[in-house]
Order: sequence, then structure tokens, then C-alpha cells
Amino acid sequence: MSRADHKRLFLPGPVEVRQEILHAQTKPMIGHRMPEFAALFARLQDKLKQSFFTESRVYISGSSGSGLWEGAIRCGIRDEGRVLHLTGGAFSERWAQVSRANGKQVDCIQVDWGRAHTPDMVAEALDKQAYDAVCVVHNETSTGVTNPIEAIGAVVSRYPDTLFFVDTVSGFLGTELRVDDWGIDIALTSSQKAFALPPGVAFAAVSDRLLDRAKSIENRGYYFDFLTLEKSLQKNNTPSTPPIALMFAADAQLDAILEEGMEARWSRHRQMRDATHKWALSRGFGLYAQDGYRSDTVTTVANTRGMDVAAMDEFMQRECGIAMDKGYGVIKGQTFRLPHMGDVDMKMLTEVLGGLDAFLESAQ
Ligand SMILES: *Cc1c(COP(=O)(O)O)cnc(C)c1O
Repeated sequence: MSRADHKRLFLPGPVEVRQEILHAQTKPMIGHRMPEFAALFARLQDKLKQSFFTESRVYISGSSGSGLWEGAIRCGIRDEGRVLHLTGGAFSERWAQVSRANGKQVDCIQVDWGRAHTPDMVAEALDKQAYDAVCVVHNETSTGVTNPIEAIGAVVSRYPDTLFFVDTVSGFLGTELRVDDWGIDIALTSSQKAFALPPGVAFAAVSDRLLDRAKSIENRGYYFDFLTLEKSLQKNNTPSTPPIALMFAADAQLDAILEEGMEARWSRHRQMRDATHKWALSRGFGLYAQDGYRSDTVTTVANTRGMDVAAMDEFMQRECGIAMDKGYGVIKGQTFRLPHMGDVDMKMLTEVLGGLDAFLESAQ
């Protein structure tokens, strides 16, 4: 495919990756047992800790984010223990499924899709039953809901034996997250969402408490065993061959991100969110997510106009060279998503919204 044929991605993952970042992957290869790799790993460690706001450590995994879902459960939930999942969207429900697939005893606080979880719901559940961990999705990419992680973390911290697990796959680097201050024991993420890297590498900030828990569990699995990852990390290394080209890309992207500044980056995402809301409401659409919990990185638009989303995507690809989302899971078509995440800026967003206006006019 030539560059001219490239459809720019306006998808909530994988997202469009800047040319400069794609190019960083083409550096000459290095071996992961060479000192050059240890230096790369150490540089990444420093920048990742800054961006997760943690003093502890950040594991780098040659997998997508789903692998770290499994790692968190295998290393954090004891055989006799139970895990509480806060569910209400495609991804939070799938994580609970991962826990079941690993033979864990799972309870869920299920909310209607589009609703957020509240600290009160979590307090009530933890008063009734002891849990090894509470699992929550920071930014539910299917519904466009951002959960109040800081407030839920404050509740979980009142229960010393309960760890706090956060999936921030589509939140990290697009909306505020402070791992240490918010009492998070694992914050896991993928590369292909607000990080704006190609897919294939995942990251997790992990606390000492979670490592202590892992020591008490015999069968933690192999590939995502955090104690093994920790042993290698101490030597600025990984247990098996890492995605080195993607790590070159992450190195370059983190430089750009830290130069932009975390607060500035969050604020850019908020501005794009506001512009997207304004567009959707003024065109007669609704916003699917509950007011007060609407995501800074992705807006799930309620398709109250009954727009033909497949025709919209075709139009956008043909006329603007942009590939669009058509909604996710059971709310596909009934909703569609406008992902204002990663390196999307006002210029790109304006172009997309202008294209959508042209489609709406042409479809009348
Ligand atoms: C995309 C996504 C996942 C799955 O991540 P992969 O990297 O595809 O495994 C998990 N959680 C959320 C919130 C997501 O948006």
C-alpha cells in the first residue's frame, strides 16, 4: 500500500501514529542482552515512572494489554481468594471473564452501560465480603465513561488486604492518572490508544504490595509472572525477547509527551472532548455516557438521529481518507465513537467533524 492510499485512523485503537514515531522503529536492531538495550530500558523506566506518577516500577510486556489483565489476576488473586470486578461495558466485562477463565471466584458490581461506578457501591461491597482485589476500568472505551478512580481508590485503601487494580488502556496519557497518590497497585495499559504507538507492547506500573502478594501465590503462570519480570527489571532487562522496535518508538514518543507536559496533554484532550460534545449536541445527537463521567479521550455518541454509520464510514474513507468507528459490541450502530486521543489535535478533529457535517448534508 502506498502512503497515498493510507486511510488515517480515527479509531479508539489502534490510533494514527505519527510518521516520526513510525520511523523510530527502523533504527538498527540491538540484542536484548547488550548494554545498549539496558540503557534503552533504563531510559524508558525513568520516563514511564514519570508519566504514571509512580516511584515503584513499570513492566514492559511484549503483548497487548489483555495479557496484563491475566498477569494481574494470576499474580494478585489467591486460590482461596475472591476478586471484585466493577463491570458495565465491553472491556470491564471481558476482564471479569479473564478472571473466571483463570479459575478465580468472581463477583461483579454491574452497572448499566453508560453509567459510572461510585465509591459508595464499592464501600458497600467491601463491607459485606473480603476481596483480594478490586478491578476497575479507568476509561471504558466502549461506552465513553471515565470512572472516579481517585475516589474509589480512597475507599479500597481502607481495606488493607484488598489490592486496587486499574485498567487504564485508553485513559493513560490522555486523562489524569496518579498511580502512587491514588493507591493503585497495578495500572496497566496498551500502546495503541492514547499512547499513540503501534500495537504490540503493554505497560504496567506495579506496587510493592502486589509483588508481596505474588510471593504468596504458587501458580502465577509463566509469561506474565511479575516476580520474573521484576528479577529482570532489576538488571534493566526482560525475561524473554522484548519488542525492541516498539521500545524505540516508545522512547521517542515519551520524549515528545514529557516535552508537551502531562497536564498540558490532559488539558488538550479535555478541549477536544468539549468541542466534540458541542458538535454532537448541536447536530441533534446525544451523549451516551452519564453526565459528569464523560471521557476526555473518547466520546461515545448516541445515534439518536438514526444515522447510517456504515454509510458514514464509507463516505469518510472516500471523501476524507479517514477510517471511522462504528460503535462497539452490543451498542454498535446505536452509538458510534469519536476518539479524541493520542496525537489527535484540534486541526484533525475539526477536519473529521467537518467531514461528518458534509455526510449529514449529503444524506438528507
Ligand atoms: C482496547 C482495550 C483493552 C484491550 O487492550 P488490548 O491491547 O487490545 O489487549 C482493554 N481495556 C480497555 C479499556 C481497552 O480500551
